[in-house]
Amino acid sequence: MQTAATDVRAARDELTELDRRVGDGDHGVNMDRGLSAVVERLDDPALPPRETVGQVLRLAATTLMSTVGGAAGPLYGTALLRASKVTDRPDLSASGVVSMMEAAVEGIVARGHASVGEKTMVDAWQPAAEAAERAEDAEDVADVLRAAAEAAAAGAEATVPLVATKGRASYLAERSAGTQDPGARSSAIILAAAVTAAEGRDA
Ligand code: ADP
Ligand code: MG
Repeated sequence: MQTAATDVRAARDELTELDRRVGDGDHGVNMDRGLSAVVERLDDPALPPRETVGQVLRLAATTLMSTVGGAAGPLYGTALLRASKVTDRPDLSASGVVSMMEAAVEGIVARGHASVGEKTMVDAWQPAAEAAERAEDAEDVADVLRAAAEAAAAGAEATVPLVATKGRASYLAERSAGTQDPGARSSAIILAAAVTAAEGRDA
């Protein structure tokens, strides 16, 4: 969460620019605000315990829901809330990561009813979850996350030529083609941050 907050802050202007082209230009600011609030609350001793992965994800989910706003807040919030329910260990395992990824996608789809190809964050999360499943036998958390993050980045890149049929970008119809979906891009950044953290490369 800390690495994600740092990396999203660094990408804030890029995300804002993408959302300026196909939306209302608030995605970078929304995500920066939300993840900064998550990091603050994770440090707050007055809040419920954060001893398991599930507890951390639950706090992150409720914080994102109440601070990100827009379409992305409830979508990320639902993803992390679903993921929080499938793991209650203090550490991550390869199979736990796969379950979390699957639960996250289910949450995003349950909330937003988008499928792959509609130019949304599903275009990053769906291939990421599938790649995680294929990498599960590696039994190494960083390997599973890396497979997921690479697939998310490729999926996000692949949204560039697509015409949006869900969310605010769909109002632009054909004019939404030619720009990467901001939510798919932020999803790829967050999953890449998970790899950085799992590999211990973060500060
Ligand atoms: P808003 O569109 O309300 O301004 P944001 O700019 O924060 O919200 O987030 C926009 C992102 O939300 C999009 O780039 C897209 O990835 C995602 N999104 C929007 N609608 C949906 C949906 N129905 N399903 C999945 N993702 C969606
Ligand atoms: Mg927006």
